[in-house]
Amino acid sequence: MKKKITKIGVLTSGGDSPGMNAAIRAVVRTGIYHGMEVYGINRGYSGMVDGDIHRLEGRSVANIIQRGGTFLKTSRCAEFFTKEGRKTAYDNLKKHGIEGLVIIGGDGSFRGAQIFSNEYDIPCIGLPGTIDKDIAGTDFTIGFDTAVNTAVEAIDKIRDTADAHDRLFIIEVMGRDAGYIALHSGISTGAEHILIPEKKTSVEDLIASLKEKERRKKLVNMIVVAEGEDFGGADELAKHIKKEMPHQELRVCILGHIQRGGSPSCFDRVIASRMGYHAVECLMEERFNVFIGIVNNKMHYTPLDEAVKKKQRISEEWLKIVKILAT
Ligand code: ADP
Repeated sequence: MKKKITKIGVLTSGGDSPGMNAAIRAVVRTGIYHGMEVYGINRGYSGMVDGDIHRLEGRSVANIIQRGGTFLKTSRCAEFFTKEGRKTAYDNLKKHGIEGLVIIGGDGSFRGAQIFSNEYDIPCIGLPGTIDKDIAGTDFTIGFDTAVNTAVEAIDKIRDTADAHDRLFIIEVMGRDAGYIALHSGISTGAEHILIPEKKTSVEDLIASLKEKERRKKLVNMIVVAEGEDFGGADELAKHIKKEMPHQELRVCILGHIQRGGSPSCFDRVIASRMGYHAVECLMEERFNVFIGIVNNKMHYTPLDEAVKKKQRISEEWLKIVKILAT
C-alpha cells in the first residue's frame, strides 16, 4: 500500500485576487484536521526557489478570511521558468519533507504547476485564484465576484456624474485578455456599449452608432471597455471619438487596481473555502495534478495537462444579450 501524504505546502502565485486568504485558511485547517503538517510557502514559486517555507498552525490563519490580498504574499518568479530554478525548488520542498502542493493562482501558475508535477514526484492541486475568470473548467474563479462588484460600485458612481453633465464616460476595467469583468459590470450597470477582446470591435461602427444615437437624441453615458481590447483600451478609443466627434463631452476613467483589492465578497469566501477543503481531499484520495473548479454547483476536476490548453470562452448567448440590452 502506498504511503499517505502527511506534509503539504500551500502557496499563492501570480496576480493576487480577493479570497486567496480564505482558500489558504481552508487548506491549512482541513490539512490539520486530517493530521497533516501544513507549510506556507511565501511569495509564490519564489518562496519555493529561495526556501522561504514555514510551518502553519490552525491559528496562523485566524482573522484572515475577510482580508483581500494574500497573507502568504505572491509574486511572478522568473527562476521557475528554468529547469535549474525548478530543481532548487524541488530540493527545498524535499528538505521539509513536503509531499504535495496546493497552488492558488491563475493560468500561468497552473502552467508552472503542470511542468513541475511532470518533472518531479510532488503532486500539485491548483485552485483558480484570478479576478479575470479566464480559466476553462470552472464557472467561477476566486476573486471574480469581488472584483466585478467593485467595478459595478465605481461605475454606478460615475454614471451619476455622467448623467448630471450629459457627459460620455469611457470606463476601462481589468481582465487582461478576457472580457468577463467588462461583460458583467457593463450589463449590470446598463452601459450603452461594452467592448471585449473576445468580439472584434470596429471603432468605425462604434462611432457610427454613437452618431446615430446622437441624431435620435439618445443620451449615451457609458462605454465599458476591457483592458485587453486590441485597439488599445480606453485612451485610444477616446482619441478616435474626439477626432470624429469633437463636440462630444468625453472623459476617460481607468479603474485599475482597486478591482484587485478589498475585502472578498461572501460568494468568493465560500467558493474559496469549498475549493480549499477539496484540494486537501484530492491529495488524500490521490486525485493528483488537477485543478479544482465548480461547475453547476459541483466540484469539477480538470487535469493540469488539459487546463493549460484551454481558455474560457464567452458564449454567443452572452454576446446576444449585450447586443439587445446595451443599445
Ligand atoms: P497568473 O498565475 O496570475 O496567470 P503568471 O502568468 O504571471 O500569473 O504566472 C505566475 C508564475 O507561474 C510565473 O511568474 C512563473 O513563476 C510561473 N509560470 C508561468 N508559466 C510558466 C511556465 N511556462 N513554466 C514555468 N513556470 C511558469
